[in-house]
Amino acid sequence: MLEVEKISKSTWLNESELYKCVHCGFCLQACPTYLATGLETESPRGRIALMKAVNEGRLEISNQVMRHWDLCVQCRACEDVCPSGVPYGNLIESTMDHVRDYRRIGLLPRLAYEIALKYLLPNQKNLSVLVAMMDFYIKSGFQKLVRKTKILRLISRRLENLEMMTPALNGEFFRADGHVYQSGMADAEKIQMLTGCIMPLTQGNQMRAAVRVLNKAGKDVEIPSSQVCCGAINSHVGDVEKAKELARENIEAFSKDNIDGAIVVASAGCGARMKEYGPLLADDPEYSSKAANFSKRVIDINEYLIGTQLQPGESGVRRAVTYQDSCHLANVQKVRDAPRNLLKSIQGVDFCELKQSNICCGAGGTYMITEPEMSKKILANKMKNIIDSGADTITTANPGCFMQLQNGIREAGLDVEVKYVTDLLDETYTKK
Ligand code: SF4
Ligand code: SF4
Repeated sequence: MLEVEKISKSTWLNESELYKCVHCGFCLQACPTYLATGLETESPRGRIALMKAVNEGRLEISNQVMRHWDLCVQCRACEDVCPSGVPYGNLIESTMDHVRDYRRIGLLPRLAYEIALKYLLPNQKNLSVLVAMMDFYIKSGFQKLVRKTKILRLISRRLENLEMMTPALNGEFFRADGHVYQSGMADAEKIQMLTGCIMPLTQGNQMRAAVRVLNKAGKDVEIPSSQVCCGAINSHVGDVEKAKELARENIEAFSKDNIDGAIVVASAGCGARMKEYGPLLADDPEYSSKAANFSKRVIDINEYLIGTQLQPGESGVRRAVTYQDSCHLANVQKVRDAPRNLLKSIQGVDFCELKQSNICCGAGGTYMITEPEMSKKILANKMKNIIDSGADTITTANPGCFMQLQNGIREAGLDVEVKYVTDLLDETYTKK
């Protein structure tokens, strides 16, 4: 009776979701942090047990308790394999939102955190200034000097690790400027595309390749100019209000030109977030139905291309290719076959499956920066599997995974290239 009374006081978790967990443990072998540590507290079942204990008043929220939740990559592999249908993504998101008030962090880190999440990531102009500075740092030769002299190690090992994660910048920025990329085909359907926050600045070439492939599939592609970051990172770290604000802005941006075709997304994490704008804004009287309609239009680029009967170019590519599932494409969007089938349709591709391709690579949005040690532990296993695959090219479907794999490959000194599926499709039309 007492327990019921305590439970009913809870407002931060949906109890009908929380108490679906029957502690069977089927999810353990899908969890990257459990596989890396072997610890129950770093497993989905352990994290849910902590949520229940706090919810029932048996445990106080402390730094130690929060640590186990923070170490969750939010890959949602546990949700995908759970026979009881525990919606773990909702539970961890609500938990991260709830514990924000309990965090005791210094003024400076808190300020840096707030600036990054509220003013940097959601704002392309501010973010592009930062990336332009990064570009100068790399091209001026400073980066080489810093790495050669190991000067950052004298200041802090953490800073040195952070510098090692500076992404390789691929070509000019890809701007969300309202441009319509024409396919040149007479009765082309008009679709829209999300650029996201990080991808257009660090992987402009890859975004242009994706648009060229959509054009080859006979689609005119509009890039709405007032679009913003999808809000995935904000919801992962518990800033649900900001995530909702960004969702509303995107709904407006993509409805401005009265296009009701597909909203194609080349980044799996963004696509997953946008497909869930419906539930995110379900309590918003003005936006609930708009959000549900918006989400129905969102589709991952691999999933979309499979439905277009696209024919890869005749020149093909000669590569031994494997594929790493991006968690938010496989576990949330349930898209697994489309990228593989696209790869297999390319002439010259020798496709091989990657062992444990369903296990996260450790990127997890900002996880690779906030939890570098666990992230690297998870990545180390991925590198072993890449070597065993014998592939010279690894493909994936998300900018975070792309950067994480690039960093792992560089540090391991492997001769393997990281590509998107659309990069390889694009090569089939352009390679001589
Ligand atoms: S989350 Fe699902 S799979 Fe994992 S222990 Fe609970 S019921 Fe079992
Ligand atoms: S979301 Fe991923 S890291 Fe977190 S508990 Fe589930 S499987 Fe483990």
